[in-house]
Amino acid sequence: MRVLVVEDDALLGDAIQAGLKQSGFAVDWIKDGVSAEQALTTEPYAAVVLDLGLPRLSGLEVLRRLRSRNVSTPVLILTAMDSVDDRIKGLDAGADDYLIKPFDMDELAARLRALIRRASGKTDPLLELAGVKLDPAAHRVLYRDKPVELSAKEFALLHALMLNAGKVLSRAQLEEQLYAWGDEIESNAVEVYVHHLRRKFFPGLIETIRGVGYLMPRDKVA
Ligand code: CA
Repeated sequence: MRVLVVEDDALLGDAIQAGLKQSGFAVDWIKDGVSAEQALTTEPYAAVVLDLGLPRLSGLEVLRRLRSRNVSTPVLILTAMDSVDDRIKGLDAGADDYLIKPFDMDELAARLRALIRRASGKTDPLLELAGVKLDPAAHRVLYRDKPVELSAKEFALLHALMLNAGKVLSRAQLEEQLYAWGDEIESNAVEVYVHHLRRKFFPGLIETIRGVGYLMPRDKVA
């Protein structure tokens, strides 16, 4: 899952980026409000971590503009300890959750997983389809109740397909979920990972829709 982190504090931004990468997210990090707004109009993110005190354009204004365009991407705001007012304004402007600085990186990752899960309309944190069980928090996958070893990219691809079961995702949409800016995108990466997943589970788990993309059918039985 690809997330945007907007934080002007270099140390904190660096720590958040590292922490979320550790939890398996692809992370783009931006340090001012204007660049954040640009990124949010061009890139698809599963969620946004938004500091409110930002140079060039406040986090609150970034949030208001995002919601005025009817974009429903989950947003978690970061606020200072003593700023109850900021939290209220943020939630009223369309934020879905908040954390007070300083916070724990594991808690941030857990809250993002919860927001992404809710945004996808799922209530159960465990995804299950065709004998495949995926636990986003533990980063674990079982097939017919036996653990399956997956690389970070294979896991991310499987996670994206399972969250969107029944929908066709284009190669570009999948690449956008797997890679952050600055990551080197291997050519044919999506094809290669789909091939690995079919081999590790079963061939029909992921269908190729010619000229469109890939689909994990909802009602597939292995
Ligand atoms: Ca700040």
